[in-house]
Amino acid sequence: MAMGLSNIKKDMFHVTATEAIGIWKALNTSPATALIIFSSKSLTARTMTLSLPNGDPSKAAAAATETPFFSLYNERIRELLDAVDRLRDLKVAKEGIQLPTIVVVGDQSSGKSSVLESLAGISLPRGQGICTRVPLIMRLQGSHYRGSEPELYLEYQGKTVPTSEEDIPNAIKTGTDDIAGKQKGVSDNPITLVVKKRGVPDLTMVDLPGITRVPVHGQPEDIYEQISKIIMEYITPKETIILNVLSATVDFPTCESIRMSQAVDKSGERTLAVVTKADKAPEGLLEKITADDVNIGLGYVCVRNRIGEESYEEARAAEASLFEEHPLLSMIDKSMVGIPVLAQKLVKIQASIIGKCLPEIIRKVDEKHSQNVSELNILPRKLTNIAEAMAVFVKVMGSAKESLAKLLLRGEYDEFPDDKTMHCPARTVELLDEYTQQLHSRSSSAEEESSKNTLFLMEEIVVLKESSQVALPNFLPRSAFATLLKQKLKGVAQTPFEFTRKVWNYMEGVVVRILVSHSESYPQLQTSCRRAAYNLITKMRERSYSYVEEMVQMETMADYTSNPEYMKTWLDLMKYQEPLQQILNGSRNQNTQLEIPGFGMMEVLHLQEHSEKVEQAFDMKMRVTAYWKTVMLRLVDNLALHLLASMKNLVNEEMEAEVVKEFMGGNRGGLERLLEESTAVANKREKLNSSINLLEESKDVLAQVMDRIALESDHVE
Ligand code: GDP
Ligand code: MG
Repeated sequence: MAMGLSNIKKDMFHVTATEAIGIWKALNTSPATALIIFSSKSLTARTMTLSLPNGDPSKAAAAATETPFFSLYNERIRELLDAVDRLRDLKVAKEGIQLPTIVVVGDQSSGKSSVLESLAGISLPRGQGICTRVPLIMRLQGSHYRGSEPELYLEYQGKTVPTSEEDIPNAIKTGTDDIAGKQKGVSDNPITLVVKKRGVPDLTMVDLPGITRVPVHGQPEDIYEQISKIIMEYITPKETIILNVLSATVDFPTCESIRMSQAVDKSGERTLAVVTKADKAPEGLLEKITADDVNIGLGYVCVRNRIGEESYEEARAAEASLFEEHPLLSMIDKSMVGIPVLAQKLVKIQASIIGKCLPEIIRKVDEKHSQNVSELNILPRKLTNIAEAMAVFVKVMGSAKESLAKLLLRGEYDEFPDDKTMHCPARTVELLDEYTQQLHSRSSSAEEESSKNTLFLMEEIVVLKESSQVALPNFLPRSAFATLLKQKLKGVAQTPFEFTRKVWNYMEGVVVRILVSHSESYPQLQTSCRRAAYNLITKMRERSYSYVEEMVQMETMADYTSNPEYMKTWLDLMKYQEPLQQILNGSRNQNTQLEIPGFGMMEVLHLQEHSEKVEQAFDMKMRVTAYWKTVMLRLVDNLALHLLASMKNLVNEEMEAEVVKEFMGGNRGGLERLLEESTAVANKREKLNSSINLLEESKDVLAQVMDRIALESDHVE
C-alpha cells in the first residue's frame, strides 16, 4: 500500500500542505504539542493532538515512560527530525529553504562546547585559542539506539569518518583543518558529528565559532567580522532557535552573543539562555535570571558542566548535588537547573519548531521544484546536429516574421496588448498626420510671409516681367509658372525627409526588439539578428531618402495632374478676374478691395500701374494655387504608399535575406556556431538540473516520512 501511495502523495503535496498550514495555524495557540498526520487513506490532512504535561519538565520526563502516546509522539518527532536532518544534508538552504535549527551561540570560553559535551556525554576539544572554527552540527540520537557502546562518526565534505569518544577532539581538529586550513581561519562550511548513544536526547544543534573581539596570534585581522557573518547567517532566519550560552561569571548585558541575538530576535521569543559555570559564581545568580535584563523569551537554565578530567556521570552527579545542596543555588526553581532539564526543554522546543515549520518547508520544496522545472523547460534545448540547428533557425525566423507581420502589416496587437509603442499602424498613422499638418502649416506660413512683404499679385508680376519673351502676349510663359512652383516647394522640401527619418527610427526600435526577443535563447543567432536589423533599417532608410529626393525633384521639374479638382478650383478662382478688372477700371465706384476665398480681403488699387500684366498674373496665381493643392496631396499619398510598400517588403523579403546574410555569411557557418551552447545557458542548465535533483530527493524524503506517519497512525487507531 505504501508504495503505491507515495506516488499519489507526491502529487497531493500541494493540497495537503496548504490545508496543513491552516490547521497548524489553528493549533498554534493550543498548549499541547500537535502533529499533522497525512492520511494515505483519505488523502486529507488530519490532526492528532497529543497531550504532554506542560510546565514542569521533570514531570514530563516521568510522563514519558508512563504515557503510551509518548513513545508514539517521540517516534514521530524522531522521524520528522530525521527528515529535517536529511534535508540539511541535502543542503536545501542553497535553495533558500530554511530548516528549523537550534543554534548555539556564546562568547568565547562561555562554555558552549562544554554544554554540548554535557548534552552528548562526550569530550570535545578545549583549549586556549579558538577551537570551533567551523560550524559543528551535532546530531544526537539516543532514543532508538540499542548498542551497548556509543557509535560516533563525523561527516564533512562528502566523507564519513568513524571516530571514538576519546578521539573526537582530534577528529574534529583534522576535519576543521581540512575545511578551514591549518591556520586559525574560520569557514562556514560545517562538520557534522553524529552521536548515537543510549540515553542522549534526540537533538540536532549547531555549534558556531565563539565570538572574539581581538584576534589572537595567527588569526586573520577581520576574524570578528568573519565570525559575526557566520553567526548572523545562522541566527537570522525565523526558523532558528537561539541557544545563548552565558557564563554566570559575566554581566549578561555586556555579552556579545546577547547583542547579536537581540539584533535578530528583539523580543527574545526564540532565544533560550543556558547559564554555565553556576559553580563558579553562585552569588546573585538567582537575581540575575529572575530580573531577566536581556529579554530571554524561552527562559533560563543554569548548569554546571564537566570540570577537568571528571567523567560524564561524575559531572552529572556533582551538578545534581550542587543545585540540591548549595545554599544559594538550591533556591533556584528545579525547572531551571541542570543538564537533564535543558535536554527536555530543547527536545520540546525542537518538536514544536519542526511542527511549525514543516508545512511551509513542504510547500516551499514543492514550489521551488515546479519553478525550476518550468525554468528548465523554457531553456533552449542543446542542439546536436546541423539539421536541428537549421530547424531552430527556421523556427526563429518564422516566428519573428509572423510577429512583425502582425505588428507592422496586420495591426494585430495580441503579443503586446499594453505596450503602445509596439502598435505600429496606429503609431505610423500618428506620424503621417503630423507630417501632413506640418506640410500645410509650413506652406501657409511661407504664403503669409510673402503677402506681408509684397502687395497682391506683385510677386507674379515681377516673375512675369523677368520671363518676358518675344512672343504673343496672351501666352502664359511656362518658366514663370515653374519659378513660382519651385519657390513654393522650397518652403516644404525638408518636411518629407524629416518624416521619413522619424518613421524609420521608430521602425528600427520595433524590428530590433522583435528579432532580438525571438532569438533570445540563442546568443550566437541573436548577435546576427541584431546586426541584421540595423543593416536592414539603414538600407530601408537610405532607399526612402532617395525616393523622397526623386519625388521632390519630379515636382520641381514637371507639372502635370489628371486630378479634376485642379480645373474645378482654377475655374472657381477665375470668376474673380472680372470683379478685379472692374475695380481697376473704376467701374465699381469707390471700391478698392476684393475678397477672394482662400486669400481674404485684398487691397488691389496698386495694380492699376501694371495693367498690362494683371490679367496674366491673376491667371497664373490661380493656376499655382489650384495646382499646389494637388502637389501637397501627392507629397503625402506617394510617401505613405512608398512606406507601406517598404514595410511589406521588409517583412516578407528583406529581413530574412539580411539575417541569412549576417548569420551564414561569415567564415564559420552560422549553423555550426548554433551547435556550441553558450556557457551561460550551459551553466544555468546544470544549476537547474542539480537543484531539481536536490528538490526531488527532498520531496522523496518528505513523502516517505509523511507516508510512514500516516501508516503508523492507521495502525494506532
Ligand atoms: P567555549 O569556548 O564557549 O566552547 O567554552 P568551553 O566549553 O571550551 O569552556 C571554556 C572553559 O570554561 C573550559 O575550561 C571549561 O572547562 C570551562 N567551563 C565550562 N563550563 C563550566 C562550568 O559549568 N563550570 C566550570 N567550573 N567551568 C566550566
Ligand atoms: Mg568551543
